[in-house]
Amino acid sequence: MSGNLRELYQEMIIDHHKNPRHFHEMPDATMSADGYNRLCGDKLTVYLKIEQGIIVDASFMGVGCAISKASASLMTDALQGKSIDEVHALFHRFHSMVTSHDEPMADLDKLVVLAGVRDYPSRVKCATLAWHTLEAALKHDTKPVSTE
Ligand code: ZN
Repeated sequence: MSGNLRELYQEMIIDHHKNPRHFHEMPDATMSADGYNRLCGDKLTVYLKIEQGIIVDASFMGVGCAISKASASLMTDALQGKSIDEVHALFHRFHSMVTSHDEPMADLDKLVVLAGVRDYPSRVKCATLAWHTLEAALKHDTKPVSTE
């Protein structure tokens, strides 16, 4: 990764940390889960509103380091309008990106700004906390949510 690109990614991470997107509770969430990264002290709650297998809204609350918060902000942005299958696939690609050096980064869009954490194994848990919390929330989805 070139120095300029790395700087740009860092700026985007700081921006998402200072001004997180979708950073609020969701009273009408259809599912939610809490996540805690003991290593760093990051604590997140992820809220999802799912209608007929589509994530129509996603948000989060919590406290944590810049990486964990930026990752949750970018994730909740990326989830909007995606199907649950698409989200599982995205999680897989994201996880590969932050843990391996060979994985191509196609289709990750803005999430690539977190690729740099692969060089800092202790920060991988910060970057993936929101995603693991998301997976936990989705596991509670045993039946389709009815729309009113
Ligand atoms: Zn952290």
